Amino acid sequence: MKVKLIILFLILAFVVSMPFIFNKTTHPAEPHELDIDGNFIMYDWHYDDFKEGTRDGTNPDWDYNLKPVQVSERVWCFFGAMEMPTKENAGNMANSCYIKGDTSWILWDTGASYVFAKQAYAEMKKIADLPAKTIFLSHEHDDHWLGNNYYTHEFDAKIYGPKSVNVNYLGYDAKTGKPFEGTREHPPQTRMERALYQSAIRGTHLKGVDEFFDDTTEITVDGVNIEYVKVGYVHSEEDWFLYLPDDKVILAADVVMNGRVTSNRDGLVVGQLNALKAINAREWDYLVPGHGFITDKTAADETIQYFALLKDRVLEGIEESIHPDFITKHVTLDEFKDKDLYYLLSPGNVFRSYEELEMYEEDDEDEEEDEEEEDEEEEESEEEE
Ligand SMILES: [Zn+2]
Repeated sequence: MKVKLIILFLILAFVVSMPFIFNKTTHPAEPHELDIDGNFIMYDWHYDDFKEGTRDGTNPDWDYNLKPVQVSERVWCFFGAMEMPTKENAGNMANSCYIKGDTSWILWDTGASYVFAKQAYAEMKKIADLPAKTIFLSHEHDDHWLGNNYYTHEFDAKIYGPKSVNVNYLGYDAKTGKPFEGTREHPPQTRMERALYQSAIRGTHLKGVDEFFDDTTEITVDGVNIEYVKVGYVHSEEDWFLYLPDDKVILAADVVMNGRVTSNRDGLVVGQLNALKAINAREWDYLVPGHGFITDKTAADETIQYFALLKDRVLEGIEESIHPDFITKHVTLDEFKDKDLYYLLSPGNVFRSYEELEMYEEDDEDEEEDEEEEDEEEEESEEEE
């Protein structure tokens, strides 16, 4: 009797698990439904956006409940939660800003989704009914720019930003930042596209940068003097901040965070410290961080302290020959343990810095050797002359 029951149970278990077993081999009719690692893309509803009958769902748009905060005479910002992107915050965990030009809005980052951008614009329209024509992007992380296609769709806005957005997300050519024969028709989904509810992410297309600058550029857009400052490899492969000299405002994006610990997973400590110097070399009264709510003269203090301590302590650890497996035990930043995301992100920052700073020391030695070689070469060429 017992044996029969067990056999019956096994048969039942097999039947129940069949769909899961057979699901392992998925043969989508459309090969683009596989992402770059060959995984089936489950949420492929948005590619034919703006056409009818697509898998957009019918539930109402996510309500981001956005309230712009005026930072200076012509700058307003939306402040996001001090969290990682989740379904519950619908990606609203980064800061983005609107700058009022003479006849249009100029944007600093565009937020987490098309729906976010649409709702942000609706709020700004109450302040001044102007089109949003120009966008400056800070860096490639997708919590900062997935709202792009709302503005290009509605206002034909022009987007300035780092090439890394086009190369790393849209698969464009690394040199030109433009599409090439290797560019896939549908880029792989970003972490935000995968994480958000359909009611929040619907309508979002990856829209890249239209025009790049090679280096820091002073530009007047619709009556507003802007310095778009390239700080390079800082928090990501290519970071920029915006300086409004007449307003004495810095829009720092993720070069500065406060109230929470930063994520240095794609960043460099040395780049961070240099970027913070570039910020403090400018005269400013207000600074808007990429994440965090402090915008006064103390806005950058936490980040400066964090990276200074991180660098010193990790270098000490390297000096003491601490094995990388133990570096996150050895180096902690207890001064920041009450800040948001400390336990989640700080150990990773320590580990990443260890890798960087170990290389950094070796690089220094390499450079010295290179310089010696160059000197020798110069001497040789002088002799030839
Ligand atoms: Zn960010």
